[in-house]
Amino acid sequence: MKWVIGNWKSNGAWSQNEALLVALKALVCENTRVGVCVPFPYLAQAQRMLQESKVLWGAQNVSPFGPGAYTGEVHAEMLCDFGCRLTIVGHSERRQYFGETNAQIAEKIQRLNAVAITPIWCVGETLEERERGAWQDVLRQQIVEVVEIVGAAAVENVLIAYEPVWAIGTGRNATPEDVAAAHGWLRTVLSEVGARSDLPILYGGSVKGGNAAELFTVEGCDGGLIGGASLSAMEFAAIVAAA
Ligand code: 13P
Repeated sequence: MKWVIGNWKSNGAWSQNEALLVALKALVCENTRVGVCVPFPYLAQAQRMLQESKVLWGAQNVSPFGPGAYTGEVHAEMLCDFGCRLTIVGHSERRQYFGETNAQIAEKIQRLNAVAITPIWCVGETLEERERGAWQDVLRQQIVEVVEIVGAAAVENVLIAYEPVWAIGTGRNATPEDVAAAHGWLRTVLSEVGARSDLPILYGGSVKGGNAAELFTVEGCDGGLIGGASLSAMEFAAIVAAA
């Protein structure tokens, strides 16, 4: 069973979303689990449009805190009110622009677990880290620092997304060999820390209709987390069809 999940990032407008969600709803997803992570203001729209379909929806972030005096934050129980089943944590854009740390990611995973929303836990190395041969150390640290805080049992039901930063939005996807090596390494690290090594691991980074089949058939790759191409109904449908 493959997963194909769209990440709209900070894109969308009420009127455009309507057409995209109609197209999503019409997707045939018999052997593929399809989902979409939308900006907070559009969760109600996604819920209204997708609730009769097999497509899952969710957010792209969640507060590391519960309810209270945390201006600007959206806590996990609020996401339940909008029917979210999935939510992204630790996306590289949040790490890079908002200083999100592994400790905060650990908190967010626990908050989502408490309300039974599946965390999509993103990991991945930068170009600089890859070029100096540090990608394995970086991935290990991203996994270990979170599992040390939450414990292996808390990551039993997560989806992991391997998203090399150099492949995100660049049009330069990782090769099938890169994906096989990274997913294999993540499984090694997961078992080292006592976590499930058979967790679903999705690949993200410049996935398109034209390269999805090649990437998704890599051993150990359980589907994709799709940025730019999830904004086009045709392109996203082609990716789902390739899964
Ligand atoms: P692109 O598909 O636009 O490269 O983005 C990938 C991503 O960041 C998904 O979370």
